[in-house]
Amino acid sequence: MHAEIIAVGDELSSGQRLDTNSQWLSQRLGDLGILVTRHTTIGDHLDLNVSTLQEAAARSQIVVITGGLGPTLDDLTREAMAQAFDRPLELDSASLEHIERLFARRGRPMPERNKVQALFPSGTVVIPNPHGSAPGIDLSVEYRGNAARLFAFPGVPAEMKQMWDESVQGRIESMIGSSRGSLFFRSVKLFGLGESDVEARVPTLIARDRYPMVGITVSQATITLRIAGRAQSSKEFEKLIQPTLDEIHSNLGDIIFGYDEDEVQDALLRGLVNSQQSLACVEIGGNWIQSAMQEVNGASENSLAFLGGVFLGNHDTARQWCASESTTETRNDDDYLLKLAEQARRQFSASIGLAVAGYPSQSQISSQPPGTAFQFTFAVSSVDPRLDGKLDQRSMGGHPEVLNPRAAKSAMDWLRRMLVSSS
Ligand code: ATP
Ligand code: MG
Repeated sequence: MHAEIIAVGDELSSGQRLDTNSQWLSQRLGDLGILVTRHTTIGDHLDLNVSTLQEAAARSQIVVITGGLGPTLDDLTREAMAQAFDRPLELDSASLEHIERLFARRGRPMPERNKVQALFPSGTVVIPNPHGSAPGIDLSVEYRGNAARLFAFPGVPAEMKQMWDESVQGRIESMIGSSRGSLFFRSVKLFGLGESDVEARVPTLIARDRYPMVGITVSQATITLRIAGRAQSSKEFEKLIQPTLDEIHSNLGDIIFGYDEDEVQDALLRGLVNSQQSLACVEIGGNWIQSAMQEVNGASENSLAFLGGVFLGNHDTARQWCASESTTETRNDDDYLLKLAEQARRQFSASIGLAVAGYPSQSQISSQPPGTAFQFTFAVSSVDPRLDGKLDQRSMGGHPEVLNPRAAKSAMDWLRRMLVSSS
């Protein structure tokens, strides 16, 4: 069984307002173990409403619609449902009384127009709307050989949510029976390979018909493998996904840094805490590591493992900063970056200093042809001889907005791996 959601309203399709109802409803359906396969957003046009409802009813078992149940002429959902499934509108007197009472309580006469809100496609089971004048529509139809149940809600998020909680959720639960359990998710987070390389290492995992299902997404070079499965409890889910997790670990173990909401900086912080190290960093031309680490620092209450960072605008300032504190002359660029790392480490009394150079400025990026690769250099200074003096060079290209954060992530991940292998 799967569901789809249709959000109706010119204010949504024109971009004036964000469709948050579909997000909320998808999560609620997911909690019930029902997969949502499609969101559709349409403006207030009758033909479009009719055809969209028909297409949805022909392929999905549950169709949830929000918006367009108001009393005005641009509110077309009930009329569209009536036309789409050949169910003439009929007056529901209990709903009319509810609407009249609502207006009486507000001390206002009911406009004639509001009567339409008591009209429902024949066969409707009304969904009560205690605080609003638009009751919802619960209509079961057979369309092109498919049995679909449609639930139409007003667009007002607060009314929609209350109606879901008080009426519709229970109706859907009794439709599916409680034996199916809920949908649970676990995300495995990876860094250091491209999306297609990850897929190539676990080709059978991403297969559409596999169960538990595994989806792959990428955001700022962090790859997420999201495992979804149905279970009665989180404990049962853990058992269900264990073989899948094992497969991921045996094929991709080297690039896994965490789970669920983890980012590379969370994993680095954990690595520092676990190995009882502290970090200071220095970055030339950006402050990407500093801001990422500052965001997660102190997340675990026993530590502030990130002690601070220095931002240096360019190499001239960097050389000055370096020279002002050291007596030895630096012979070459590598030495100089290691020197910077050492300086940061000493200045913050940290056990590890990390230096990163190579962030291009916006103007440097835009003066080059798209796809141009830039050279980044990472250096580590540490009291621990297994880490001290490590240097790495990476050549990276990409969209200006993601290149520098990605380079910073690479540096953090590089250090994280060193911590893991030296522990
Ligand atoms: P009523 O007219 O009785 O309030 P309705 O069903 O006609 O109900 P709409 O006019 O479509 O609802 O929307 C009412 C309010 O809810 C508007 O402020 C609208 O922007 C908001 N809204 C509608 N759909 C959504 C949605 N999908 N996500 C978030 N807000 C929405
Ligand atoms: Mg509307």
